[in-house]
Amino acid sequence: MSRQPPTAPRPALIGKVLMRCAGQCAVCRAWSDRTVCAGCLDLYARPQPRCWTCAAKLPPGLTGHARPQCGRCLADPPPLDRAVAAVDYRFPWDGLLQQFKYRQALDLRESLLERLASALDAAGAPEPDWLLAVPLSAERLRERGYNQSHELARALARRRGLRCDPGLLLRVRHNAPQAGLKLDARAANVRGVFAVEPLRAAQLRGTRVALLDDVMTSGTTLFELARVLLDAGVMSVQAWVIARTPAD
Ligand SMILES: [Zn+2]
Ligand SMILES: [Zn+2]
Repeated sequence: MSRQPPTAPRPALIGKVLMRCAGQCAVCRAWSDRTVCAGCLDLYARPQPRCWTCAAKLPPGLTGHARPQCGRCLADPPPLDRAVAAVDYRFPWDGLLQQFKYRQALDLRESLLERLASALDAAGAPEPDWLLAVPLSAERLRERGYNQSHELARALARRRGLRCDPGLLLRVRHNAPQAGLKLDARAANVRGVFAVEPLRAAQLRGTRVALLDDVMTSGTTLFELARVLLDAGVMSVQAWVIARTPAD
């Protein structure tokens, strides 16, 4: 059996993912029984040494430590016990995540979750009690019709036997997009945005939570949400994300 090697990445392919046929790799279009073929996984999903608490990619020199952390986390430890990212937010994952967000494709969801599951296993991340998605504002939810992070959380929770409930975390304020803001402005922009549903807070007290998001950029949103959970009596918070942008 011979398989054609994956061709070099071409960003123009991103928009064409929609048009692929069943049985073709979503990235290189080689015939494959998987959404992303083994050759592309080898090229684009190699495990990376990452910061223990923000999942930023680390230079190889720092990885000798048991719990390696980036300079930013060492200077200002985030309220996370652990952060795990499956892949870097770049080709082809940026395009595949966009496709998933707007098309809700089941095969893409499964492929992304497979990457996350294998990163979690490799990281030895402890199993939480709850797997909760970063909530969207009511306004954004109306606009999009669904919360892609919750769809990922629900599918992964089912697979791992974790509790998952979109009603526990609230986005009580609609904030401006984080993109384009400087780090301190981002922190101010998310302050007061999240809350634990007061009628359900007792269900979270004393439990371990993993937050799921599709993309982690500066981490500001996840850190703020973790703080809200810890204030509500949650014992520990992890962040599980599909893709991590390069540290800024
Ligand atoms: Zn491929
Ligand atoms: Zn870090």
